[in-house]
Amino acid sequence: MKKIVVKFGGSNLRRPEDIDRLVNVVQTYQRPLVLVVSAFFGITNALIACVKAAREGAGTLSALAESRDYTLTLRAMKREILEANITDPAERGRAELAVNARLDQLERFLTGIHYIGDVPDFVNDVILSYGERLSSLLLTAVLQSRGIQAREALPEDIGLTTDGIFGNAACDFDASIGPVSTALSGDGVVVVPGFYGVSQDGKTTLFGRGGSDYSAASIARCIGAESLDVWKDVDGFLSADPGAVASPHSITRLHYLEAAELSYFGAKILHPRTIEPLFDQAIPIRILNITRPDLGLHAFTVIDGERTVTHDVVKSVSSSDDVAILKLHGPGVGFKSGILAEVTAALDSNGINIKSVLTAQTAINVLLAREHLDAACDILAAHHMAGVVEVSRNDAVAIVAVVGDGVLDASNAGSAIASRALSAALAGGVRVTLAAAGASEVAAYMLVDRSDRLLALRLIHTEFFGVQ
Ligand code: ASP
Ligand code: MG
Repeated sequence: MKKIVVKFGGSNLRRPEDIDRLVNVVQTYQRPLVLVVSAFFGITNALIACVKAAREGAGTLSALAESRDYTLTLRAMKREILEANITDPAERGRAELAVNARLDQLERFLTGIHYIGDVPDFVNDVILSYGERLSSLLLTAVLQSRGIQAREALPEDIGLTTDGIFGNAACDFDASIGPVSTALSGDGVVVVPGFYGVSQDGKTTLFGRGGSDYSAASIARCIGAESLDVWKDVDGFLSADPGAVASPHSITRLHYLEAAELSYFGAKILHPRTIEPLFDQAIPIRILNITRPDLGLHAFTVIDGERTVTHDVVKSVSSSDDVAILKLHGPGVGFKSGILAEVTAALDSNGINIKSVLTAQTAINVLLAREHLDAACDILAAHHMAGVVEVSRNDAVAIVAVVGDGVLDASNAGSAIASRALSAALAGGVRVTLAAAGASEVAAYMLVDRSDRLLALRLIHTEFFGVQ
């Protein structure tokens, strides 16, 4: 029987009592599973802060004390979780010993970077992986204490191999499929920490922030899973962010590409890279809601390779503030060859990803994540480019996208979709900086004044879904 890969994220792991819900879910499946778990909510950020403090305060006793304080806090937190979830004192004692041994390892790494005054990439990745390593250990202990046959399997033990890029690795499927599928075969529940794999030479390499979804998708591909079940605390993908629109509705089906675009344009429900390992594998992704135990294993959204064009074409409107425009001005930049190659090479060699590029004769617009804008400006300012007379920046923007199969297809009245979205926004007074349709078959987007983001989202949602 094929296995199901079940992913629990940080939103399922906030409080000690959340573990109970996870255990109930595992019991509901009544079959062998592979669980992939994230760190508890907020832990990765705290570990990042620890590393930063160690780097900045290298050698100072206060920085060392800060990281010791943090591991102490973690110990207390884990003890509380074990107390709330394992009743038998002997079993709880054993689990506590194992958790403390793992925390000792983390503490040794934190002390090490403090004394050497530097954080090599490979050490950074190991330290940040401890949030997940603690979750998997804890959850395994709790499952065992409830009589469930469970074991922990670390990526280094199962051969989940990556391309070796620290901080932003990709899975090497040729190297991983054989060992991972063998290691994860057999009965029972196997618990794997998400967020990292190991390079060919055995070093921990992270899959990037939010990367546990990608871990779970990669493992699902390696074992040829029946499905990847991602547990959230909302009703799947929605027609818009419920914080922005009164009553958005759940989307029952999405094609892989639609889900990828929605995630790319700001839907927080899945990491944008989750689709990558699965889209040519016919392994569906099912999104379930852990706060609705009455519904059992009901999936609110199923994402697979089946294309569906709905009546109004648009399935969801999403938005993100995490965008900024870097603009290269010059009377002939659109015509001169080689400028973009220089820009992309300079940004890439500094690890800066370009989200999109729109070019006219007198300006090249490069869309970046907001956090990269300062560095990108500095890099390009220091890099003379013939034909570019000025580099300007705009971080007072947000991106709003409409996503749905058929957005571009004129036979579905699709050619009108992008203009309907744009007109609705403009008519409502949204200041639109830039608009694009056609970058992908299933999405059209616009950049709007940052303070108009919610207004644009509401206007466009009303245009396609009516007043809710
Ligand atoms: N814990 C990691 C992060 O916060 C990975 C994840 O949650 O998916 O980025
Ligand atoms: Mg996540």
